[in-house]
Amino acid sequence: MAYCSKCHAFLDNDACFCKVCGLPVSAPPVYTVSPMVSGVENPQWAAITALVCGILSIVLPCIPLVPAVLGIIFGIIGLKSTQKPMSIVGIVLGSIGVLLFILVVLYYIFVVAIIMGSMPDFSGDYSDVALALRTLV
Ligand SMILES: [Zn+2]
Repeated sequence: MAYCSKCHAFLDNDACFCKVCGLPVSAPPVYTVSPMVSGVENPQWAAITALVCGILSIVLPCIPLVPAVLGIIFGIIGLKSTQKPMSIVGIVLGSIGVLLFILVVLYYIFVVAIIMGSMPDFSGDYSDVALALRTLV
């Protein structure tokens, strides 16, 4: 049972104020989320993983898609944790990583297309060979 801390009057369990003196009843203890809380309820690990993966997707452009996608996935999980900003950074960096990967792929396709386009036209050479053969015959 609760009693008013000021006038020691009996308080209802759900009372917000003391009926006698009007003193606000202290709110029930708020259990702040601590690192001790399990990962399922407070996936800080996901937020941190998202951040690390997001950074990796930017720093390591050779294998960007794996950490980038992981960064986005863990970032979404980590949004439920207290490390929301870290999760958002992970998602943003992961998204940039995916975009970078797409750009790199497009770049290589572009480069390959240029190389293919600049390859010597052998049809001209063959006609030269044919002309040379004709003059010999
Ligand atoms: Zn009171």
